[in-house]
Amino acid sequence: MPEVLIIEDERAIADTLVYALQTEGFTPHHRLTGREGLSFLRKRDCDFLVLDIGLPDIMGFDVCREVREFSQVPVLFLTARDSEVDQVLGLELGADDYVTKPFSPRAVVARLRAILRRADGRQGGCPEAGTSLLEHDLEAMVVRCRGVALKLTAHEYKLLATLMGQPDRVFTRDQLLMAAWEDPGSAMDRTVDAHIKSLRSKIRATAPDCSDPIQTRRGLGYTFSLEEA
Ligand code: CA
Repeated sequence: MPEVLIIEDERAIADTLVYALQTEGFTPHHRLTGREGLSFLRKRDCDFLVLDIGLPDIMGFDVCREVREFSQVPVLFLTARDSEVDQVLGLELGADDYVTKPFSPRAVVARLRAILRRADGRQGGCPEAGTSLLEHDLEAMVVRCRGVALKLTAHEYKLLATLMGQPDRVFTRDQLLMAAWEDPGSAMDRTVDAHIKSLRSKIRATAPDCSDPIQTRRGLGYTFSLEEA
């Protein structure tokens, strides 16, 4: 079971995370301060570090820098403000991702799984600073690509949100029409194709290095998969 160290000074947040991670088959550990977390990590290999930025003793950024001196453990930052997000992206700390508070514990679990998959693909290669290819912010109703909000039409957004909501499921064009159009009768299968095409080009414009996350299943429909080749 993957071991996760959570460094977070707010007990309520840590408790919900610990609970969610246990439920999902991880082994979570929790430390309240940067120093305690660092000394834990020096003694014990963890598969993940979930790291709050606003800690009482050392800023999360500095904890991350110190961790990088002895470990390449994937780091997921917990951020409270947009300014912190900018810093995560700008500092090139070798952090793998971030979530912004308030977040759902499920979102954190999903993010850790995505990092695990990426780490497997990386096979111990160079650690890179970066954010996930696509990230759905349900409350803001935006999809971020590499941390940048995609400028989508309402139909494109609903299409992508539907596909992302159930990765690896094949959706027929009819199902996508039902999900993303208020009046599906007035639209045609080709409408879906046209919107998928424009979605792909928007994603490609933001992340030209990545393989297309929307796959065409010939004769069936479309599926979303975040396996990064
Ligand atoms: Ca805090």
